[in-house]
Amino acid sequence: MAADTRAGPATGHGKVVTRFAPSPTGFLHIGGARTALFNRLFARHHGGQFRLRIEDTDRKRSTPEAIAAILDGLSWLGLDWDDETVHQSERRERHAEVARQLLADGKAYHCYCSPEELADMREQARAEGRAKLYDGRWRDRDPSEARPDVAPVIRLKAPLEGETVIEDLVQGRVAVANQQLDDMVLLRADGTPTYMLSVVVDDHDMGVTHVIRGDDHLTNAFRQTQLFLAMDWALPLFAHIPLIHGPDGAKLSKRHGAPGIAAYRDMGYLPEALRNYLLRLGWSHGDEEIISDAQALQWFDLDAVGRSPARLDFAKLDNLNGHYIRESEDARLVELALPHLDAEDNAPVDSEGRTRLARAMAGLKPRAKTLKDLAGAAAFYVAKRPISLSPKARKILSEEAGARLARLAPRLGELGAWNEAALEAEVRAFAESEGIKLGLIAQPLRAALTGSDASPGIFEVMGVLGQSETLARLSDHSYAA
Ligand code: GLU
Repeated sequence: MAADTRAGPATGHGKVVTRFAPSPTGFLHIGGARTALFNRLFARHHGGQFRLRIEDTDRKRSTPEAIAAILDGLSWLGLDWDDETVHQSERRERHAEVARQLLADGKAYHCYCSPEELADMREQARAEGRAKLYDGRWRDRDPSEARPDVAPVIRLKAPLEGETVIEDLVQGRVAVANQQLDDMVLLRADGTPTYMLSVVVDDHDMGVTHVIRGDDHLTNAFRQTQLFLAMDWALPLFAHIPLIHGPDGAKLSKRHGAPGIAAYRDMGYLPEALRNYLLRLGWSHGDEEIISDAQALQWFDLDAVGRSPARLDFAKLDNLNGHYIRESEDARLVELALPHLDAEDNAPVDSEGRTRLARAMAGLKPRAKTLKDLAGAAAFYVAKRPISLSPKARKILSEEAGARLARLAPRLGELGAWNEAALEAEVRAFAESEGIKLGLIAQPLRAALTGSDASPGIFEVMGVLGQSETLARLSDHSYAA
């Protein structure tokens, strides 16, 4: 066998095929979502296919719920894929068949080491500081020497000399001396395939041309390359993307906050904002920050993937989300804000409330960073009477202020046109007739109508609430003189 095992461009594949291959761990991780996005954009940019493979061979962790959580996350993010989803666990027989084929071709062998022998070997290797944990003692040994009570595993007869090289599309050339790699197990004693075997067989059978994934898999790529070469299969090209780090530059962990995509949805981020944000985590196009899906598709390629880890930046995410909220249709924002309003323990919003929200959206959306903000700012519009007052609002609504509201109310009741201009003219005229500054009536109005001392412009608020709700709220908090 040739000593140097070099990964060249995949040959024999016409079009680009990428895949996202998550192990279902209970949610779609932010790093996984970025991997999926990059794979999808790369494939679609090149007119190829993006496929999904669920690596569900770990029976304990791969529950239907864990798989559903991944699919849910992908579909919420709008990352659809081509063809049928491949479930790795359903392909065990095919994986085993490849191990047996390598055995028949003399490229793999039965190893009869007992667990105790292996443990001793490992310990010794560690003590001597050797990377290779298995010494290859069954490579050329006759099976007749085996202990009858040990069921054999199948190991790859990996090259002993030279090096295994990967021309990684992100990392550049990376090589490992073959001396460092021991003969990996392909099939366990109980006949189940190992992860390494499954990945390679699946990538080959799915026609994957580009393996784009986190650089925590870079070391696996060496063994996978050995396996591709042993099978005489076209090698895919590898692109190992630096992992995402926390804002402090440390590896992402729980203390950096939400690890799962669903948590971002629950916090009120829009899928398009998260897509744009994830795209910029490790990839750039000049100084562009706001990148539409169409631009992403046009511009994305692997040459602009950076070699150092991207850092999470929540302020950036908030800014992008604010942008996409402002770009959204009002009707869509109403629908998206509703679950957040419900979650805040508000009474279910009725159709009158929805109409009010739709009228309010133009005024609310310029200020919101998240749907949660939006719902928080909109809550008073749909609150049931009598609305509750903040301590500051309570203070503003003094007896004097209440009496003023009571004098203003009939004038508002007689107003023919209920729009911001008419309302402003009427309230200004009222302030003049009372000999007070506008603020002295505007603040009590705000307190009585919104329950707080800060809100959108008061005439906008009155316009959105409508005449009868405005008058009803005023009567809840005004005092007849
Ligand atoms: N299943 C692996 C993971 O979730 C990815 C394997 C691969 O992309 O080759 O980390």
